[in-house]
Amino acid sequence: MPTLIAGNWKMNGLLAEAESLAREVREGAAGISCALLVCPPFTALAAVARVLQGSPVAVGGQDCHWEASGAHTGDISAAMLRDAGASWVVLGHSERRGEHGEIDETVRQKVLAATAAGLTPIVCVGETEDQRQSGRETEVVGWQIEGSLPKDFAGVLAYEPIWAIGTGRTPTEAEVATMHGFIREELGRQFGGAADAVPILYGGSVKPENAASLLAVPEVGGALVGGASLRAADFLAIARAADALSKTAPRA
Ligand code: PEP
Repeated sequence: MPTLIAGNWKMNGLLAEAESLAREVREGAAGISCALLVCPPFTALAAVARVLQGSPVAVGGQDCHWEASGAHTGDISAAMLRDAGASWVVLGHSERRGEHGEIDETVRQKVLAATAAGLTPIVCVGETEDQRQSGRETEVVGWQIEGSLPKDFAGVLAYEPIWAIGTGRTPTEAEVATMHGFIREELGRQFGGAADAVPILYGGSVKPENAASLLAVPEVGGALVGGASLRAADFLAIARAADALSKTAPRA
């Protein structure tokens, strides 16, 4: 998979704003080689998918339920995301884990549902600040991988240290390298050779200014971008930083 730059718009964007942001991303994507994905809020998903139809920019949801349908008030199924034009879904984001009590097993069930519906899941893992300060970051991430991914996982993993999300703080390149190296080894240990193909994104305060150095770290296969993805110019600048590293072949 080419380097993936994925934008998580979170709970931002009324319909007109989301459409306008999508139009700007579409226009800017023309000169970009890496893979681009935007994940708008559910209410804007179909409209954004219409704007991006026929463009190289893919669309994803930010969550889905583990069941295909039924009595789950307020929830959205993977098939509904597909129906609205999504081909990807972010699962197990720390804001879902923290605010909605999602545990690893919930995430694993969602991954199964997403995959069955034909969506590519991006599963988020990452430690809290306390866990890092007490030297338990790899242990925590190892457990999250073991609990959140099904054995035949065929998606993308995103390492997002919780203390770096929306804070403007990032781990050092050495810390990212250590964690991504650990995750690659852990994927191999838990899932065997097929796990070599699982791209590992970095997420947490990625901006145009730090994108090149973070994306250059070995085993970083792209970025999951929150705040900076709400400005098309910044999101596209991050994608251009990925292109400049030549980790991707030019789009045909
Ligand atoms: C995120 O929430 O996935 C994220 C990476 O946010 P931010 O880029 O704003 O830190």
